[in-house]
Amino acid sequence: MQTAATQSDLLRKYDVPGPRYTSYPTILHWDSVPTPEQWIESVADSLNVAKQQGTGAAIYIHIPYCRSLCTYCGCNSRITTKTSVSQPYLETVLKEWSIYRTRLGTQTQIPLTELHLGGGTPTFLSPSELDQLISGVLRDTVQTADAEFSIESDPRVTTAEHLNVLSRLGFRRLSLGIQDFDPQVQLAVNRIQTEKQVEAVTEQARQAGFNSINYDLIYGLPFQTLNSVEQTIQAVMRLRPDRIAFYAYAHVPWVKPGQRHFTEADLPSGDEKRELYEFGREMLAAAGYREIGMDHFALETDSLWKTSLNGKLHRNFMGYTSRFVTPLIGLGVSSISDSWDMFVQNEKVVENYTTRVEKGELPFFRGHKLDREDRILRRHILNLMTRFETRWDDAELYVPFLGCVDEGLKEFERDGLIEFSKYYCRIKDEGRAFLRNICMAFDARLAQDSSAQRLFSRTI
Ligand code: SF4
Repeated sequence: MQTAATQSDLLRKYDVPGPRYTSYPTILHWDSVPTPEQWIESVADSLNVAKQQGTGAAIYIHIPYCRSLCTYCGCNSRITTKTSVSQPYLETVLKEWSIYRTRLGTQTQIPLTELHLGGGTPTFLSPSELDQLISGVLRDTVQTADAEFSIESDPRVTTAEHLNVLSRLGFRRLSLGIQDFDPQVQLAVNRIQTEKQVEAVTEQARQAGFNSINYDLIYGLPFQTLNSVEQTIQAVMRLRPDRIAFYAYAHVPWVKPGQRHFTEADLPSGDEKRELYEFGREMLAAAGYREIGMDHFALETDSLWKTSLNGKLHRNFMGYTSRFVTPLIGLGVSSISDSWDMFVQNEKVVENYTTRVEKGELPFFRGHKLDREDRILRRHILNLMTRFETRWDDAELYVPFLGCVDEGLKEFERDGLIEFSKYYCRIKDEGRAFLRNICMAFDARLAQDSSAQRLFSRTI
């Protein structure tokens, strides 16, 4: 007689490389880069739909510079202590924005619903440089009534002056990179920052008028233990952010050589890593934080939790968001844009990005035009990532891959992780740890190109 698999067996079984699904198709499977004309037409169409619905665009601006390398980093960052790089870079971003403005037509201002600064380290720029950059972008936009501005920030290089300038420009959401407060872990990842520093920036932000503060934590880092996670979360609880992202460390040293600073033996195994998450999750639940989607938590007063209750939670390249906004226009090196029909990504090296912009070109180097099957499968993956369930009908079953997706789902059903029928898939509580694996059953592009799978980080 076959005995039921234990949680440990399942963690071992499903600890395989897999996408995080911040987009579908995932970037490795983009294969149809649009022309600049097609891209602009798609953005303009998306903008027209947004205007009809009373919303506007989202703009993401990437600042790649950081003063030192955190060895776990998976972002597109350029390490330098030369502050002289900031001014030419921000001028290039403003030129890129002016290329968009010209190509989209300069008669009307662009409605703006979201503005997000990420990196790298946005506060690598001085307060006056940030002012110049943001004011330059806002000059050509009109903000919708519910517009939200947010910024990712490194507590080690964020000053009260930065926060005051950002607040004056309309920023109300701040996301601070914390990761772990344990000294041994911080040494291994080359990111030394104290609870006092984080407390100071948090208080300064609140005084400056920021009303939503997020902390990013990571589990699965080298030398992390249950004790270090406990100490970190206790410190976090004292500071009481509104949201917490408790991400799995993504080990991809073949893409990010900085991760070779420590060895795989220093990392918690799949079982141990999941135990860190479950332990942290219980602490957060006891402190009043509600779990949302994958790896995210929020207080009940926060819009992300309220949105998750009304089924409107969304997920994009920046992770979970409390609403669907399109088009997303990404400015800056390596930024990704999404018109909902197409994706593009900008050049990933600053010099190449700058050369393209100086020539007056839209500086993207790859992209993808979604076909009908992509759109249908994206909807199901997005539903699973945000609501843990999805439904389809007979018409959709004509999509070749969806017609045979039950083959992939049967295994999860046998393992007690999902319920599914011909038209329905629901992830049980026991299956939440395997969300990425279950989404992979809907990923036609991965099924057609399984050799790409090894390039992703592990799912557990
Ligand atoms: S500050 Fe952020 S982007 Fe920069 S190296 Fe550290 S983790 Fe990467």
